[in-house]
Amino acid sequence: MDYYLLAFMLIILSGSVFVYMYYLKEKKEELDSIKRGFCPKCKQKSIELTDQRSSGCSGPKILSFECLECGYVNSFAVENSGSCGTDRYTK
Ligand SMILES: [Zn+2]
Repeated sequence: MDYYLLAFMLIILSGSVFVYMYYLKEKKEELDSIKRGFCPKCKQKSIELTDQRSSGCSGPKILSFECLECGYVNSFAVENSGSCGTDRYTK
């Protein structure tokens, strides 16, 4: 058994988990900023909802945002709060 290889694989694995956690944290902070109406990149109040998609009644909603100032674009999957059929958004 090659312990160096095993240690190497452990480092890669924990590294990718860390990157993924960091990515989720960043994403959450960006969404928090957008929910308050600010662009996470340039801090201007120029963020706009460009697209909203739902994959059904109970699945998560995909929200796409765009900043009119700096061109920041991002999309987020948010939990659908059980409002089936009432606020269907078509664009
Ligand atoms: Zn911006």
